[in-house]
Amino acid sequence: MAIELPALPYPRNALEPHLSAATLDEHHGSHHRGHVEATNRLLEGSGLEGVALEEIVRRARGRLADEAAQAWSHGFYWTCLSPCGGGDPAGPLAERLARQYGDFIRFREEFTRQALGLSGSGWVWLVQRPDGTPGIVATRGGGTPLTGTDTPLLACDVWEHAYYLDRQNARADYLEAFWKVVDWQAVGARLR
Ligand code: MN
Repeated sequence: MAIELPALPYPRNALEPHLSAATLDEHHGSHHRGHVEATNRLLEGSGLEGVALEEIVRRARGRLADEAAQAWSHGFYWTCLSPCGGGDPAGPLAERLARQYGDFIRFREEFTRQALGLSGSGWVWLVQRPDGTPGIVATRGGGTPLTGTDTPLLACDVWEHAYYLDRQNARADYLEAFWKVVDWQAVGARLR
């Protein structure tokens, strides 16, 4: 059974003006699709055919692990965003972020700092540690928290392809736009 490219959970122009339809077309229709197709090619004969994508990310090695991770991370990223997103989180997530970072603003500053500090391509994640506390993790290239013990709650793709059509190489501007479309309800629902 092949891995499928999940449809965007909103129309391609739904995140405008923060993320343009052109960026979503390219990012979902070309980059995300490319990782799904490469995963399917590499799955043949791997012994992991028919295994769920998350499980492939955990169990595969080498190129398949990398492509599967990118396929999974992109699907996850789209579900972290919403045209009704932005603002501040509420409920238990807000409480845990405040306990860990002082307040939401300081959490956002620290996440942004790590996103801007990651040299080259990668991802920045809000995760839940095994002890329940929130943490911020930056992974290079296609790395994901799935291969460790943390539970991913939120992903920010900081590969240049996530923003160059809208903002050239201005990653800081992209981060500002990103915060305006984060779906805190979806992120908070992932707490265990
Ligand atoms: Mn990407």
